[in-house]
Amino acid sequence: MATHNEEIYAQAVALAESWQNRANELLTKEEKHIQDQMKRLLTNPNDKVLLSKMIDQSFRSHNSKRVADQMSHLIDEEGVPEFFSRIEKLFIQMFKGVGKHFSSLAVPTMIDQMRAGSSRAIIPGEHKELHAHLQKRKGQGIRMNINHLGEAVLGEKEASHRLETYIKDMEDPDVEYISIKISTIYSQINSLAFDETVAILKERLAAIYRVAKINYFIRTDGTQIPKFVNLDMEEYRDLEITYAAFTETLNEDEFKDYSGGIVLQAYLPDSFGMQRKLTNWAKERVANGGAPVKLRIVKGANMEMEKLESALFNWPLAPYDNKLEVDANYKRMVTYGMEEESIKAVNLGVASHNLFELAYAAVLAKENNLNPYFYFEMLEGMADHVRRALREGDGDVLLYAPVAAKDEFINAIANLIRRLDENTAPENFLRYSPDLSVGSSEWTYLKDSFLNSCVYQEQAQDGPNRIQDRLTETFPESASTYSSNRFVNEADTDWSLAANRKWAEGIREEYKKTADNTPMQIPVVIGGEELYEGRDIKEVIDPNQPREKVCLAQFALANEEDALKAIETAKQDPDGWRKLSAKERHEALSKIAFELRAARGELLGTAAGDTGKIFMEGDVEVSEAIDFAEYYPLSARHLDDIENIETQGQGVGLVISPWNFPIAIPCGGVVTALAAGNTVVFKPASDAVMTAWKLCQCFWRAGISKNTLQFVPCSGAKVGPLLTASEDVDFIILTGGTDTGLQIL
Ligand SMILES: Cc1cc2nc3c(=O)[nH]c(=O)nc-3n(C[C@H](O)[C@H](O)[C@H](O)COP(=O)(O)OP(=O)(O)OC[C@H]3O[C@@H](n4cnc5c(N)ncnc54)[C@H](O)[C@@H]3O)c2cc1C
Repeated sequence: MATHNEEIYAQAVALAESWQNRANELLTKEEKHIQDQMKRLLTNPNDKVLLSKMIDQSFRSHNSKRVADQMSHLIDEEGVPEFFSRIEKLFIQMFKGVGKHFSSLAVPTMIDQMRAGSSRAIIPGEHKELHAHLQKRKGQGIRMNINHLGEAVLGEKEASHRLETYIKDMEDPDVEYISIKISTIYSQINSLAFDETVAILKERLAAIYRVAKINYFIRTDGTQIPKFVNLDMEEYRDLEITYAAFTETLNEDEFKDYSGGIVLQAYLPDSFGMQRKLTNWAKERVANGGAPVKLRIVKGANMEMEKLESALFNWPLAPYDNKLEVDANYKRMVTYGMEEESIKAVNLGVASHNLFELAYAAVLAKENNLNPYFYFEMLEGMADHVRRALREGDGDVLLYAPVAAKDEFINAIANLIRRLDENTAPENFLRYSPDLSVGSSEWTYLKDSFLNSCVYQEQAQDGPNRIQDRLTETFPESASTYSSNRFVNEADTDWSLAANRKWAEGIREEYKKTADNTPMQIPVVIGGEELYEGRDIKEVIDPNQPREKVCLAQFALANEEDALKAIETAKQDPDGWRKLSAKERHEALSKIAFELRAARGELLGTAAGDTGKIFMEGDVEVSEAIDFAEYYPLSARHLDDIENIETQGQGVGLVISPWNFPIAIPCGGVVTALAAGNTVVFKPASDAVMTAWKLCQCFWRAGISKNTLQFVPCSGAKVGPLLTASEDVDFIILTGGTDTGLQIL
């Protein structure tokens, strides 16, 4: 006998089948044409690449001649895409032939064509067209949710323009519902400045909610309903910020009665936990007399961006890496969201184009009589025949309509590319939707995927993939190129994680000093000795607190005698560094990478105090420094391993580093010189001595001797020339101004 759950799954399959059959009957000729076009795209995968390039290039330049030139070049290189119809192909051939010569006419025509071609999915934002569309939909009894396309604005001027647009929307009698992205109302979202970012977002969200609260949308039957604002969800790094901005704004007394919406993405293993947190918060709010909120459950649309970020920063992929878990988590979230106590506090929008997902939600809602608390959400122009079938069956559908006026059309590109991805990814429902019929092998594949994910709900990972914690992390031996013989970039700090933000807070507390600070004393280190007394002394004044004149350190400057002694020691190489084999040097230097890993916080705090380097920028420098410490000795060893080749250092290296990259550049210079079998005299920039001192300590702690690496801050004008002009210095690694370089030469 089938269990209760199995019955639900079977009912969902039956419902999806009836919707699909009806949708096929409702398919118009125009929709069939679009489906055929999509099929051509799927059979010619290169077309997708070319189409993406064409969309991209059309808006790169305002210069028509340049755009025409790029288009012709693309068509020359890749041919005319099969995706286009015969007439469109002819148009493209004509464009290639004469378009270049009449570019001021041809390019705007082509762009207009592109806009017209996408206008089913991207609604023209010009006042007249947009309102005509909204009124048409209202007349059809279709609820509209508009989204002014564009994300991640770069400046505050644009952010305030966006904010004004949303406020105007809320005052506009034709607009019922808007979706907005937090990255459009604040241009400086910064995970590390979490509280500051949330505070600003709260102010701006409140400004929109305030207007939404006092305006109403009147339906054709005369019912007045409050205007609605839904926060879209974007990249993983914005998840916690969006959640905090949303709940904290609604926590304000003035919004106790106002109901706003948020989105969670089921492709993130973090989202189910976040949903439970949201639900508990909302239950308490409702118990205290507040209004419920609304959650839109989606699978997630930023996979490519997440993959890119994961690859760039060497972090685990934030979403699940398989569709089974994505789908299972989606259902788990819908199942939980459909529990009576949950849905009364957190109303649901079930957003998907996968008919099985929609059917599953519909069956659960019907079983528990929860229809008033939930609706379907679909995108305008993606599967309109399916939407019509759903509505015939009494389904309440909210239609999400991206909007862009002609001069904003560049904002539509990311959206168009995402749609292209969504329609073509191998496991996505929409890929199979052209000519989809119940009983076909494609349908069976989709049905089986649905059923498999139904039974996998409990097994899908429930907790984040990204778990880096700088407070507690340890590094295995295998992290070293010495043990693995393989180079992997060091992961940067993931600031979207609360643990790392707490770690950063601790660093600031430790390294931000007050005026009564006792400055540390930094000696020169020459011939194995630390020398401070009797030298000229300079102060390191914290550039972050210029008025307070906080002295962080006092450092000694090497005198002429010191400089000569440093060169002599380096030349003598009393500890025999130059005699070591490449393998022995690799072993010794690999320990430095571990010291640098352990000193990440110390280096960040020191560089911040010393040079004003912000943590985010200091952090990538530490990673780069570790990469140098792993990569250079490995490469030196690989060179040495080549048969019939002998390698040897040049002798004495002088490393002169700048202040602006106080961690990575000096580390790179010192490591490369050491890895190649040289002794090193290191002269850091006078404005970054404190950071250089901490860096050298990593080398010395790792076992590099104070004869092999000597620390020689000195006056560039007086003592510097003794070093740079010395015949015993075999090479100089300088990163600095051209003037300095020429002077040395
Ligand atoms: C009204 C509406 C509003 C939306 N709002 C948002 C929003 O605010 N934020 C947002 O991110 N998205 C949003 N989306 C898009 C949504 O996240 C999905 O990308 C889209 O709906 C496709 O999912 P599906 O459920 O329709 O279909 P399906 O085809 O069943 O699933 C597609 C999903 O599976 C994932 N996937 C496919 N293959 C794999 C694999 N091998 N490994 C891991 N994952 C895989 C895809 O990345 C995608 O998320 C919205 C969608 C709609 C309809």
